[in-house]
Parts: sequence; C-alpha cells; structure tokens
Amino acid sequence: MPIYDYECPACGERFSHFWRSWQDAAKAGPPPCPACGHAPSRRVVSQVTVLGQLGGLTPAEQEAEKRRYERMASILPKETIDKLRAGKKKAQEGGS
Ligand SMILES: [Zn+2]
Repeated sequence: MPIYDYECPACGERFSHFWRSWQDAAKAGPPPCPACGHAPSRRVVSQVTVLGQLGGLTPAEQEAEKRRYERMASILPKETIDKLRAGKKKAQEGGS
C-alpha cells in the first residue's frame, strides 16, 4: 500500500495519505488539505525516498523508485535519468 506525502500550498500543512494502490493514487490525484480543506495539495518527496538515498530500500520501495524513474523518463531525457541514477549509486557506496 503506497503512502504519499503532500504539502498544502495554502497553509503549509504536511500530511501523509495512504492509497489502496498506485493506480488509485494516480487516478485520484492529490487529496485536499486536512487542516484547511484547500485542494489540491502538492506532492512532496517522501521520507521513504530520503531513506532510499541512504541505501535502506526494501523491495517495495525499490519498486516505487523504479516507477518514479519511469514516470520521469516520460518528461526527462535519458541522459539526465542516468546521471541521477549514477549519483545515487555513488552515494550508497560511500555511505555503507
Ligand atoms: Zn491547508
């Protein structure tokens, strides 16, 4: 079950939202802010992603990362993705 983190552009509230599936999350889009009701909220980089950069990825999180890169691949040139991947790999090797 994916957890996305969101930030409200109106009041700055940060919250997490549990989705039943990635498909649901993509289809429904950002949920309204639980504090002030502003919609839509804005997706932010989640803690899962931050942990992943430190090398602590579970298989499910690796799958999430892969999907993230796949989505980026539709808007970024392949060289940019490769550079990002190489940088992350280097950080993991140095950190362990
Ligand atoms: Zn708000």
